[in-house]
Formats: sequence, structure tokens, C-alpha cells
Amino acid sequence: MRMRLNPFNTGNINVRSSGGGGVPGGKAGGLGCGTIVIAALGYFVFGLDPMQTAGMVESVQQGQQQSGPANTDEQAICTSSAYAREACNGLDSLNQTWAATFEQQGFGDQFQQPTLDLYGGGGVNTGCGAGNSSMGPFYCPADQTIYIDTSFYDTLERQLGAGGDFARYYVLAHEYGHHIQTITGISQQIRSAQQQNPSRRNQLQVLMELQADCYAGVWAGKNRNLIEPGDIEEGMNAAAAIGDDRLTGGRVSKENFTHGTSQQRSQALRLGLQGDDRACDRITNIG
Ligand SMILES: [Zn+2]
Repeated sequence: MRMRLNPFNTGNINVRSSGGGGVPGGKAGGLGCGTIVIAALGYFVFGLDPMQTAGMVESVQQGQQQSGPANTDEQAICTSSAYAREACNGLDSLNQTWAATFEQQGFGDQFQQPTLDLYGGGGVNTGCGAGNSSMGPFYCPADQTIYIDTSFYDTLERQLGAGGDFARYYVLAHEYGHHIQTITGISQQIRSAQQQNPSRRNQLQVLMELQADCYAGVWAGKNRNLIEPGDIEEGMNAAAAIGDDRLTGGRVSKENFTHGTSQQRSQALRLGLQGDDRACDRITNIG
């Protein structure tokens, strides 16, 4: 299935590429329609968010970091591979959809675009500490940047052998959801609640993740005209495949879930697909 997104508008998106790889590599080509299920990898797909793994991020070996100036040549980055082009198109669409949503609700001046760092070379310095490709895609609130190692897409293709472009857009839209949570102040509220209730830390983290899934659905729901019927199924499969219950095979007790069960994640996406972000807001309404 192909989502028919418009090509990104030059100068409308914030992209860069850090790390040792310079311009991101990665094979061109798409994934066909099909199932998307690989538990362990799927877990990385939706990332270990910095908020959740701050300690882990900081403990990353210095040697894995790669520094050097980031490449900010939008054309070079966005045309370096089919995946990069797709990510740039997705980012532009997400920016437009969310800017309009904020505008419609009277919060236009609150909206800020995130940066997308399509880093290469395995390691990257972020505003949240050192990151590396084993962490999967993640969002750093401190520098409002979504980090995706482009080799991740290769792994996704090689190991999954299937998935469809909507699954990849969904990954980006989920991380973008964390950006929305940051600029609306929801992240900060959850963080405070976690500090006040350490025993509910994981439970609150699950709500954050489910809301990001829901926001991903909102973006898709507001762009339904660009989506083919099978796309939504791909997203639903992806959401279901990466629930904590499936991934851990029942070995981890429910209190230790950090991303929600398969059923919860599918439900969150479905809720978002109705196209009203205010329905997602209720997910973290813990007051
Ligand atoms: Zn997340």
C-alpha cells in the first residue's frame, strides 16, 4: 500500500543529519503490503523514550558517540534515499496537519515544528544525552528533535521483510506525538505526576505512549483522503504487534509495562483515527 503524501515543500521542514555517516544512507525501495510482526524489533520501533530511559541514555559508552557538525542540507538529506524522502514528506504533512489543528483550536502561536535528525553512523549526541541506533527512533524533549537512524529502516526491511510505508509513517507520527505532548505541556505534567507518585511511574508512562499512538492516529485520520484501505490495517497490526503483553510473552507483570498492551495500543490508534485530538487528550487526564 502506498500513502499518497505530497512531496515536502523546500524550506518548510527542519531536518538535519548528525553522526559519522554524513548524509544518511539506506537502500531505496519500499516494503510491500503484508503483515508486520516482529516482537523484539517492534519494541524498538516505538522507541525507548528518553524520559523513560534517561539513565540508560546517559550510561551509553562515550566511545559510541560520534560528533561533528550536523549536515543541514535539506535537499541532500531528503533526497539521499527513498526512506529519507518518505520521512521528509511525512514530516511536512505532520507539520501542516498539527499547525492547522492548533490554529483551529485557537492555540496557533503555541505551535512549533520539531526537528528531524536522520542521523547515520550509529551514534548521536542529543539534548538528552548520547543516543545510538540500538535505541530505535526516539524523541528528545530538550532539543525538540525526533531522532531516527536511517539504518533502522534497513533493519526494519531486512528483519520484517514486510510492513508497508504506513507502518514507517506511524513510527514518525508516534514520535511526533511526543513532540505535541512537549509543546502542550502534557509531558511536563506527567513527569511531575511521576515524581509525586513513583509507584505509578510505569502506569503513567503507558498513558504517555498510548496518547502518542492516539496522536499518530489523529494525523492519519485527518489525512484519510491520502490513505489506502490496507494502510490502516498495517498500522493496526503494527500497534497490536508491539504491545508489552505480546513482546514479553507474559514474562513481565502488568505493573512493569511501559507501552501498553496490544489491545490498548490498537484502541488508542483507533481512537485517534476518528480525527479529534481532544479525544486523545483524555487519555492522560489523570486529575
Ligand atoms: Zn513513544
